[in-house]
Amino acid sequence: METPENEIFRDSIGTITEDGKRAWVFPKKPSGKFYNYRKLVSYFLLSILLFSPFIKINGNQFLMFNVLERRFNIFGFPFWPQDFYLFVLSMLIFVIFITLFTVAFGRIFCGWICPQTIFMEMVFRRIEYWIEGDRGKQMRLAKQPWNAEKIKKRGLKFIIFAFISFIIANVFLAYLISSDKLIAYITDGPTSHLSTLVSLLIFTAVFYFVFAWFREQVCVIACPYGRLQGVLLDTKSIVVAYDHKRGEAESGRKKFRKHEDREALGHGDCIDCMQCVNVCPTGIDIRNGTQLECVNCTACIDECDHIMESINLPKGLIRYASEENIDEKAPFKITARMKGYIAVLAIMTGLLIGMLFLRNDLEATVLRLPGQLYEHKDNNIISNVFTYKLVNKTSNNIDNVSMKLMSHKGILKLVATSDSFNVPKQEIAKGTLFIEINNSDLSGDRNKIKIGIYQGDELIETTTANFLGPRSFK
Ligand code: SF4
Ligand code: SF4
Repeated sequence: METPENEIFRDSIGTITEDGKRAWVFPKKPSGKFYNYRKLVSYFLLSILLFSPFIKINGNQFLMFNVLERRFNIFGFPFWPQDFYLFVLSMLIFVIFITLFTVAFGRIFCGWICPQTIFMEMVFRRIEYWIEGDRGKQMRLAKQPWNAEKIKKRGLKFIIFAFISFIIANVFLAYLISSDKLIAYITDGPTSHLSTLVSLLIFTAVFYFVFAWFREQVCVIACPYGRLQGVLLDTKSIVVAYDHKRGEAESGRKKFRKHEDREALGHGDCIDCMQCVNVCPTGIDIRNGTQLECVNCTACIDECDHIMESINLPKGLIRYASEENIDEKAPFKITARMKGYIAVLAIMTGLLIGMLFLRNDLEATVLRLPGQLYEHKDNNIISNVFTYKLVNKTSNNIDNVSMKLMSHKGILKLVATSDSFNVPKQEIAKGTLFIEINNSDLSGDRNKIKIGIYQGDELIETTTANFLGPRSFK
Protein backbone atom coordinates (compact mmCIF):
# COMPACT_ATOMS: atom_id res chain seq x y z
CA MET A 1 0.00 0.00 0.00
CA GLU A 2 1.36 3.41 -0.91
CA THR A 3 2.05 5.78 1.99
CA PRO A 4 -0.16 8.90 1.95
CA GLU A 5 1.81 12.03 1.14
CA ASN A 6 1.38 13.55 4.60
CA GLU A 7 2.75 10.36 6.21
CA ILE A 8 5.88 10.04 4.04
CA PHE A 9 8.05 11.58 6.78
CA ARG A 10 7.51 8.39 8.82
CA ASP A 11 9.39 6.28 6.24
CA SER A 12 12.77 7.89 6.83
CA ILE A 13 14.71 9.85 9.40
CA GLY A 14 15.53 13.48 8.82
CA THR A 15 19.28 12.98 8.66
CA ILE A 16 19.42 10.27 5.98
CA THR A 17 18.69 10.86 2.33
CA GLU A 18 16.52 8.62 0.16
CA ASP A 19 19.59 6.83 -1.21
CA GLY A 20 20.81 6.14 2.33
CA LYS A 21 23.46 8.85 2.54
CA ARG A 22 23.93 11.26 5.42
CA ALA A 23 21.84 14.41 5.06
CA TRP A 24 24.03 16.94 6.82
CA VAL A 25 21.98 19.25 9.02
CA PHE A 26 22.87 22.95 9.00
CA PRO A 27 20.57 24.30 11.72
CA LYS A 28 19.93 28.02 11.91
CA LYS A 29 21.41 29.67 14.99
CA PRO A 30 18.66 29.66 17.64
CA SER A 31 17.74 32.72 19.65
CA GLY A 32 14.96 33.59 22.05
CA LYS A 33 13.63 33.12 25.55
CA PHE A 34 14.06 29.36 25.82
CA TYR A 35 17.49 29.43 24.21
CA ASN A 36 18.62 31.99 26.80
CA TYR A 37 17.29 29.84 29.65
CA ARG A 38 18.98 26.79 28.16
CA LYS A 39 22.26 28.69 27.96
CA LEU A 40 22.07 29.46 31.69
CA VAL A 41 21.20 25.85 32.57
CA SER A 42 24.04 24.64 30.33
CA TYR A 43 26.64 26.94 31.94
CA PHE A 44 25.59 25.62 35.33
CA LEU A 45 25.66 21.96 34.28
CA LEU A 46 28.91 22.34 32.35
CA SER A 47 30.56 23.81 35.44
CA ILE A 48 29.34 20.86 37.52
CA LEU A 49 30.46 18.37 34.87
CA LEU A 50 33.91 19.90 34.41
CA PHE A 51 34.72 20.72 38.05
CA SER A 52 33.07 17.85 39.98
CA PRO A 53 36.12 15.54 39.73
CA PHE A 54 38.31 18.30 41.18
CA ILE A 55 36.07 19.19 44.15
CA LYS A 56 36.77 17.32 47.38
CA ILE A 57 34.50 16.75 50.36
CA ASN A 58 36.22 15.38 53.49
CA GLY A 59 39.11 14.50 51.22
CA ASN A 60 36.88 12.50 48.85
CA GLN A 61 36.38 13.38 45.21
CA PHE A 62 32.84 14.81 44.80
CA LEU A 63 32.01 12.46 41.92
CA MET A 64 34.12 9.48 40.87
CA PHE A 65 33.24 6.35 38.92
CA ASN A 66 36.38 4.24 39.13
CA VAL A 67 35.03 1.11 37.45
CA LEU A 68 38.50 -0.42 37.16
CA GLU A 69 39.03 -0.47 40.93
CA ARG A 70 35.27 -0.62 41.54
CA ARG A 71 35.29 2.48 43.74
CA PHE A 72 32.64 5.15 43.43
CA ASN A 73 32.15 8.50 45.12
CA ILE A 74 28.75 10.07 44.87
CA PHE A 75 28.40 13.58 46.32
CA GLY A 76 31.58 12.92 48.29
CA PHE A 77 30.32 9.64 49.83
CA PRO A 78 32.62 6.73 49.01
CA PHE A 79 30.97 3.51 47.84
CA TRP A 80 32.78 0.17 47.72
CA PRO A 81 32.09 -3.04 45.77
CA GLN A 82 30.44 -4.24 49.02
CA ASP A 83 27.92 -1.38 48.57
CA PHE A 84 27.02 -2.53 45.07
CA TYR A 85 23.39 -3.13 46.11
CA LEU A 86 23.14 0.59 46.99
CA PHE A 87 24.57 1.52 43.62
CA VAL A 88 22.09 -0.77 41.82
CA LEU A 89 19.22 0.66 43.87
CA SER A 90 20.34 4.25 43.06
CA MET A 91 20.47 3.37 39.36
CA LEU A 92 16.97 1.84 39.53
CA ILE A 93 15.67 5.00 41.22
CA PHE A 94 17.35 7.09 38.51
CA VAL A 95 15.70 5.00 35.76
CA ILE A 96 12.25 5.26 37.40
CA PHE A 97 12.74 8.99 37.91
CA ILE A 98 13.62 9.46 34.25
CA THR A 99 10.66 7.27 33.23
CA LEU A 100 8.27 9.29 35.39
CA PHE A 101 9.69 12.51 34.08
CA THR A 102 9.37 11.28 30.50
CA VAL A 103 5.77 10.15 30.97
CA ALA A 104 4.92 13.59 32.35
CA PHE A 105 7.21 15.91 30.39
CA GLY A 106 8.44 13.95 27.40
CA ARG A 107 12.05 14.15 26.32
CA ILE A 108 12.74 17.30 28.35
CA PHE A 109 15.88 15.63 29.79
CA CYS A 110 17.43 15.47 26.29
CA GLY A 111 16.98 19.13 25.52
CA TRP A 112 17.98 20.60 28.85
CA ILE A 113 20.22 18.21 30.77
CA CYS A 114 21.79 15.57 28.52
CA PRO A 115 25.58 16.14 28.24
CA GLN A 116 25.46 15.18 24.54
CA THR A 117 23.00 18.01 23.74
CA ILE A 118 24.75 20.46 26.03
CA PHE A 119 28.18 19.88 24.50
CA MET A 120 26.81 19.66 20.96
CA GLU A 121 24.47 22.65 20.96
CA MET A 122 26.06 24.90 23.56
CA VAL A 123 29.77 24.31 22.95
CA PHE A 124 30.64 22.80 19.58
CA ARG A 125 27.75 24.24 17.56
CA ARG A 126 28.33 27.74 18.94
CA ILE A 127 32.01 27.57 18.03
CA GLU A 128 30.95 26.49 14.56
CA TYR A 129 28.61 29.51 14.26
CA TRP A 130 31.47 31.74 15.41
CA ILE A 131 33.92 30.35 12.82
CA GLU A 132 31.69 29.49 9.86
CA GLY A 133 28.70 31.77 10.41
CA ASP A 134 25.01 30.93 10.42
CA ARG A 135 23.16 28.29 8.36
CA GLY A 136 23.41 29.96 4.95
CA LYS A 137 27.13 30.65 5.26
CA GLN A 138 27.81 27.12 6.50
CA MET A 139 25.94 25.65 3.52
CA ARG A 140 27.91 27.83 1.12
CA LEU A 141 31.20 26.87 2.78
CA ALA A 142 30.34 23.17 2.55
CA LYS A 143 29.66 23.49 -1.19
CA GLN A 144 32.64 25.65 -2.09
CA PRO A 145 35.94 24.12 -3.22
CA TRP A 146 38.90 23.80 -0.85
CA ASN A 147 40.16 27.36 -1.28
CA ALA A 148 42.14 29.41 1.28
CA GLU A 149 39.00 30.52 3.14
CA LYS A 150 37.66 27.00 3.54
CA ILE A 151 41.04 25.58 4.60
CA LYS A 152 41.46 28.39 7.16
CA LYS A 153 37.97 28.00 8.65
CA ARG A 154 37.88 24.20 8.65
CA GLY A 155 41.48 24.04 9.98
CA LEU A 156 40.67 26.39 12.85
CA LYS A 157 37.52 24.42 13.62
CA PHE A 158 39.48 21.15 13.63
CA ILE A 159 42.10 22.53 16.04
CA ILE A 160 39.53 23.97 18.46
CA PHE A 161 37.26 20.90 18.32
CA ALA A 162 40.23 18.57 18.87
CA PHE A 163 41.47 20.69 21.79
CA ILE A 164 38.04 20.69 23.49
CA SER A 165 37.68 16.94 22.88
CA PHE A 166 41.08 16.51 24.57
CA ILE A 167 39.91 18.55 27.59
CA ILE A 168 36.68 16.50 27.81
CA ALA A 169 38.73 13.29 27.59
CA ASN A 170 40.90 14.48 30.51
CA VAL A 171 37.84 15.27 32.62
CA PHE A 172 36.34 11.92 31.68
CA LEU A 173 39.54 10.24 32.83
CA ALA A 174 39.43 12.21 36.11
CA TYR A 175 35.99 10.68 36.73
CA LEU A 176 37.36 7.23 35.94
CA ILE A 177 40.74 7.09 37.64
CA SER A 178 40.37 10.07 40.07
CA SER A 179 41.60 13.61 39.60
CA ASP A 180 44.54 13.03 41.97
CA LYS A 181 45.89 10.25 39.74
CA LEU A 182 45.30 12.30 36.60
CA ILE A 183 47.21 15.29 38.01
CA ALA A 184 49.99 12.97 39.21
CA TYR A 185 50.25 11.44 35.72
CA ILE A 186 50.41 14.90 34.14
CA THR A 187 53.12 16.11 36.52
CA ASP A 188 55.10 12.85 36.11
CA GLY A 189 55.07 13.42 32.38
CA PRO A 190 52.71 11.58 30.00
CA THR A 191 55.47 9.32 28.63
CA SER A 192 55.82 7.67 32.06
CA HIS A 193 52.22 6.47 31.71
CA LEU A 194 52.01 5.48 28.08
CA SER A 195 48.93 3.24 28.37
CA THR A 196 46.96 6.08 30.02
CA LEU A 197 48.14 8.46 27.31
CA VAL A 198 46.93 6.05 24.62
CA SER A 199 43.52 5.74 26.38
CA LEU A 200 43.35 9.53 26.58
CA LEU A 201 44.02 9.88 22.86
CA ILE A 202 41.39 7.23 22.06
CA PHE A 203 38.81 9.08 24.21
CA THR A 204 39.78 12.33 22.47
CA ALA A 205 39.25 10.74 19.06
CA VAL A 206 35.87 9.32 20.14
CA PHE A 207 34.67 12.70 21.46
CA TYR A 208 35.93 14.44 18.32
CA PHE A 209 34.12 11.91 16.12
CA VAL A 210 30.88 12.31 18.10
CA PHE A 211 30.83 16.11 18.15
CA ALA A 212 32.41 16.89 14.80
CA TRP A 213 30.78 14.20 12.67
CA PHE A 214 28.28 11.84 14.33
CA ARG A 215 26.40 14.67 16.09
CA GLU A 216 22.59 14.38 16.16
CA GLN A 217 22.87 10.74 15.05
CA VAL A 218 23.68 9.91 18.69
CA CYS A 219 20.16 11.04 19.67
CA VAL A 220 18.44 9.70 16.57
CA ILE A 221 20.15 6.35 16.01
CA ALA A 222 22.30 5.39 18.98
CA CYS A 223 20.55 6.60 22.13
CA PRO A 224 18.28 3.89 23.63
CA TYR A 225 16.38 6.50 25.64
CA GLY A 226 15.19 8.16 22.44
CA ARG A 227 13.86 4.82 21.22
CA LEU A 228 11.82 4.40 24.40
CA GLN A 229 9.71 7.47 23.67
CA GLY A 230 7.19 5.40 21.74
CA VAL A 231 6.30 3.36 24.84
CA LEU A 232 6.68 6.09 27.44
CA LEU A 233 4.76 8.94 25.88
CA ASP A 234 1.00 9.12 25.77
CA THR A 235 -1.51 11.77 24.76
CA LYS A 236 -1.19 13.42 28.18
CA SER A 237 2.61 13.83 28.08
CA ILE A 238 3.81 17.38 27.69
CA VAL A 239 6.18 17.66 24.74
CA VAL A 240 7.35 20.30 22.28
CA ALA A 241 4.30 20.30 20.02
CA TYR A 242 2.86 22.17 17.08
CA ASP A 243 -0.70 23.36 17.70
CA HIS A 244 -2.10 21.85 14.49
CA LYS A 245 -5.62 23.08 15.29
CA ARG A 246 -4.45 26.65 15.33
CA GLY A 247 -1.74 26.26 12.70
CA GLU A 248 -3.81 24.47 10.09
CA ALA A 249 -7.39 25.63 10.85
CA GLU A 250 -9.88 24.50 8.17
CA SER A 251 -7.96 25.23 4.98
CA GLY A 252 -4.44 24.40 6.16
CA ARG A 253 -1.24 26.43 6.43
CA LYS A 254 -0.39 29.02 3.79
CA LYS A 255 2.40 31.49 2.99
CA PHE A 256 1.88 34.93 4.46
CA ARG A 257 0.50 37.65 2.21
CA LYS A 258 0.12 41.23 3.36
CA HIS A 259 -3.45 42.52 3.79
CA GLU A 260 -4.91 39.05 3.27
CA ASP A 261 -7.72 38.03 5.65
CA ARG A 262 -6.48 34.55 6.57
CA GLU A 263 -9.31 33.97 9.00
CA ALA A 264 -11.92 34.60 6.35
CA LEU A 265 -10.08 32.27 3.98
CA GLY A 266 -9.94 29.60 6.69
CA HIS A 267 -6.14 29.39 6.81
CA GLY A 268 -4.36 28.64 10.04
CA ASP A 269 -1.67 30.71 11.75
CA CYS A 270 1.22 28.71 10.26
CA ILE A 271 2.67 30.76 7.40
CA ASP A 272 4.76 27.84 6.15
CA CYS A 273 7.96 29.86 6.54
CA MET A 274 9.96 26.67 7.35
CA GLN A 275 11.94 28.48 10.06
CA CYS A 276 11.02 25.82 12.63
CA VAL A 277 12.51 23.21 10.29
CA ASN A 278 15.60 25.28 9.46
CA VAL A 279 16.46 25.77 13.14
CA CYS A 280 15.96 22.11 14.11
CA PRO A 281 19.28 20.39 15.01
CA THR A 282 17.83 17.00 14.08
CA GLY A 283 16.44 18.20 10.77
CA ILE A 284 12.77 17.36 11.36
CA ASP A 285 9.50 19.16 10.78
CA ILE A 286 7.72 19.35 14.13
CA ARG A 287 4.48 20.10 12.30
CA ASN A 288 4.31 16.39 11.44
CA GLY A 289 3.75 15.66 15.14
CA THR A 290 5.91 14.10 17.86
CA GLN A 291 8.81 12.19 16.33
CA LEU A 292 11.56 10.11 17.85
CA GLU A 293 14.21 12.48 16.43
CA CYS A 294 12.91 15.43 18.46
CA VAL A 295 15.19 16.12 21.43
CA ASN A 296 12.86 18.80 22.82
CA CYS A 297 15.54 21.44 22.42
CA THR A 298 12.90 24.23 22.13
CA ALA A 299 14.72 25.94 19.22
CA CYS A 300 11.58 25.67 17.08
CA ILE A 301 9.45 27.24 19.84
CA ASP A 302 11.71 30.29 19.93
CA GLU A 303 11.89 30.54 16.16
CA CYS A 304 8.14 30.27 15.63
CA ASP A 305 7.53 32.82 18.41
CA HIS A 306 9.75 35.30 16.48
CA ILE A 307 7.66 34.69 13.37
CA MET A 308 4.35 35.05 15.22
CA GLU A 309 5.60 38.30 16.76
CA SER A 310 6.63 39.64 13.35
CA ILE A 311 3.13 39.03 11.91
CA ASN A 312 1.30 40.19 15.03
CA LEU A 313 -0.16 36.85 16.02
CA PRO A 314 -0.05 35.35 19.51
CA LYS A 315 3.08 33.34 20.36
CA GLY A 316 2.89 29.65 21.23
CA LEU A 317 1.94 28.08 17.90
CA ILE A 318 4.73 25.66 18.79
CA ARG A 319 4.90 25.23 22.56
CA TYR A 320 5.14 22.79 25.43
CA ALA A 321 1.77 21.04 25.33
CA SER A 322 0.17 17.61 25.40
CA GLU A 323 -1.83 16.15 22.53
CA GLU A 324 -4.93 16.33 24.75
CA ASN A 325 -4.19 19.92 25.56
CA ILE A 326 -4.06 20.81 21.86
CA ASP A 327 -7.07 18.71 20.83
CA GLU A 328 -9.38 19.34 23.77
CA LYS A 329 -7.73 22.21 25.66
CA ALA A 330 -7.41 19.77 28.59
CA PRO A 331 -5.14 21.05 31.40
CA PHE A 332 -2.19 19.02 32.68
CA LYS A 333 -3.31 16.20 34.99
CA ILE A 334 -1.42 13.66 37.08
CA THR A 335 -2.57 10.38 35.57
CA ALA A 336 -2.94 7.01 37.34
CA ARG A 337 0.21 5.83 35.53
CA MET A 338 2.20 8.77 36.92
CA LYS A 339 0.79 8.15 40.41
CA GLY A 340 2.00 4.55 40.16
CA TYR A 341 5.53 5.67 39.23
CA ILE A 342 5.52 8.28 42.02
CA ALA A 343 4.53 5.61 44.57
CA VAL A 344 7.29 3.22 43.40
CA LEU A 345 9.80 6.07 43.37
CA ALA A 346 8.86 7.14 46.91
CA ILE A 347 9.15 3.57 48.24
CA MET A 348 12.52 2.96 46.59
CA THR A 349 13.91 6.33 47.68
CA GLY A 350 12.80 5.59 51.26
CA LEU A 351 14.49 2.20 51.02
CA LEU A 352 17.72 3.77 49.77
CA ILE A 353 17.76 6.41 52.52
CA GLY A 354 17.15 3.69 55.13
CA MET A 355 19.96 1.55 53.69
CA LEU A 356 22.32 4.53 53.61
CA PHE A 357 21.68 5.16 57.29
CA LEU A 358 22.13 1.50 58.15
CA ARG A 359 25.34 1.21 56.15
CA ASN A 360 28.25 0.39 58.47
CA ASP A 361 31.40 2.47 58.47
CA LEU A 362 33.44 -0.70 58.69
CA GLU A 363 32.50 -3.82 56.81
CA ALA A 364 33.93 -7.15 57.93
CA THR A 365 34.16 -10.44 56.06
CA VAL A 366 35.57 -13.60 57.67
CA LEU A 367 35.87 -16.72 55.49
CA ARG A 368 37.38 -20.11 56.12
CA LEU A 369 40.62 -20.65 54.26
CA PRO A 370 39.69 -22.65 51.15
CA GLY A 371 40.74 -26.30 51.19
CA GLN A 372 41.33 -26.38 54.96
CA LEU A 373 39.30 -28.60 57.27
CA TYR A 374 39.98 -28.41 61.01
CA GLU A 375 42.83 -29.36 63.30
CA HIS A 376 42.27 -31.49 66.39
CA LYS A 377 44.61 -30.24 69.11
CA ASP A 378 45.41 -31.33 72.65
CA ASN A 379 42.73 -31.05 75.31
CA ASN A 380 39.92 -31.68 72.78
CA ILE A 381 40.49 -28.26 71.14
CA ILE A 382 39.38 -27.82 67.54
CA SER A 383 41.12 -25.16 65.48
CA ASN A 384 40.01 -23.54 62.17
CA VAL A 385 41.93 -21.06 60.08
CA PHE A 386 40.18 -18.08 58.48
CA THR A 387 40.98 -15.05 56.34
CA TYR A 388 39.50 -11.70 57.28
CA LYS A 389 38.92 -8.47 55.38
CA LEU A 390 37.94 -5.21 57.08
CA VAL A 391 36.92 -2.34 54.78
CA ASN A 392 37.04 1.16 56.25
CA LYS A 393 34.46 3.08 54.18
CA THR A 394 34.94 6.35 56.05
CA SER A 395 37.29 9.28 55.53
CA ASN A 396 38.83 8.75 59.00
CA ASN A 397 41.31 6.18 60.27
CA ILE A 398 39.79 3.60 62.60
CA ASP A 399 42.34 2.89 65.36
CA ASN A 400 42.65 0.28 68.03
CA VAL A 401 40.58 -2.34 66.21
CA SER A 402 40.35 -5.84 67.68
CA MET A 403 38.29 -8.97 66.98
CA LYS A 404 36.63 -11.26 69.51
CA LEU A 405 34.63 -14.48 69.35
CA MET A 406 31.13 -13.68 70.61
CA SER A 407 29.05 -16.82 70.12
CA HIS A 408 31.26 -19.47 71.78
CA LYS A 409 33.84 -19.73 74.50
CA GLY A 410 37.15 -19.95 72.69
CA ILE A 411 40.17 -18.09 71.44
CA LEU A 412 40.58 -15.85 68.39
CA LYS A 413 44.23 -15.35 67.42
CA LEU A 414 45.39 -12.97 64.69
CA VAL A 415 48.41 -14.12 62.65
CA ALA A 416 51.36 -11.81 62.09
CA THR A 417 49.79 -8.80 63.78
CA SER A 418 49.18 -7.63 67.33
CA ASP A 419 45.76 -8.06 68.96
CA SER A 420 44.73 -4.56 67.99
CA PHE A 421 45.53 -2.76 64.76
CA ASN A 422 44.49 0.24 62.64
CA VAL A 423 42.39 0.32 59.50
CA PRO A 424 43.42 3.47 57.56
CA LYS A 425 40.70 5.60 55.94
CA GLN A 426 39.28 4.12 52.75
CA GLU A 427 41.64 1.17 53.01
CA ILE A 428 41.24 -2.54 53.52
CA ALA A 429 42.93 -4.48 56.33
CA LYS A 430 43.42 -8.16 55.43
CA GLY A 431 44.95 -11.07 57.22
CA THR A 432 44.62 -14.55 58.66
CA LEU A 433 43.29 -15.65 62.03
CA PHE A 434 42.83 -18.86 64.00
CA ILE A 435 39.84 -19.71 66.11
CA GLU A 436 40.05 -22.45 68.72
CA ILE A 437 36.97 -23.90 70.41
CA ASN A 438 36.63 -26.88 72.70
CA ASN A 439 34.91 -29.75 70.89
CA SER A 440 32.43 -30.13 73.75
CA ASP A 441 31.12 -26.62 72.94
CA LEU A 442 30.44 -27.52 69.30
CA SER A 443 27.14 -28.88 68.15
CA GLY A 444 28.31 -30.87 65.13
CA ASP A 445 30.53 -30.65 62.09
CA ARG A 446 29.15 -27.27 60.99
CA ASN A 447 28.84 -24.45 63.51
CA LYS A 448 27.81 -20.87 62.88
CA ILE A 449 30.05 -18.56 64.89
CA LYS A 450 29.67 -14.83 65.53
CA ILE A 451 32.66 -12.53 65.60
CA GLY A 452 32.63 -8.99 66.99
CA ILE A 453 34.82 -6.16 65.68
CA TYR A 454 35.67 -3.66 68.42
CA GLN A 455 37.20 -0.22 68.45
CA GLY A 456 38.64 -0.12 71.94
CA ASP A 457 35.76 -1.50 74.02
CA GLU A 458 33.03 -0.41 71.61
CA LEU A 459 31.47 -3.04 69.37
CA ILE A 460 31.36 -1.48 65.88
CA GLU A 461 30.50 -4.45 63.62
CA THR A 462 29.62 -8.12 63.80
CA THR A 463 30.01 -10.86 61.24
CA THR A 464 29.47 -14.61 61.06
CA ALA A 465 31.47 -17.55 59.71
CA ASN A 466 31.27 -21.33 59.54
CA PHE A 467 33.41 -23.32 61.94
CA LEU A 468 34.10 -26.96 61.10
CA GLY A 469 34.43 -29.68 63.70
CA PRO A 470 34.40 -33.47 63.81
CA ARG A 471 31.14 -35.21 62.90
CA SER A 472 29.01 -35.93 65.87
CA PHE A 473 27.50 -39.45 66.08
CA LYS A 474 25.38 -38.72 69.13
S1 SF4 B 1 7.98 28.57 12.24
FE1 SF4 B 1 5.85 28.61 12.84
S2 SF4 B 1 4.89 29.66 11.18
FE2 SF4 B 1 6.85 29.07 10.39
S3 SF4 B 1 6.49 27.08 9.43
FE3 SF4 B 1 7.09 26.67 11.54
S4 SF4 B 1 5.13 26.51 12.61
FE4 SF4 B 1 4.71 27.53 10.69
S1 SF4 C 1 11.51 19.65 16.56
FE1 SF4 C 1 11.92 21.51 17.73
S2 SF4 C 1 12.30 20.81 19.81
FE2 SF4 C 1 12.40 19.02 18.47
S3 SF4 C 1 14.59 18.84 18.01
FE3 SF4 C 1 13.68 20.04 16.37
S4 SF4 C 1 13.94 22.14 17.02
FE4 SF4 C 1 14.29 20.91 18.80
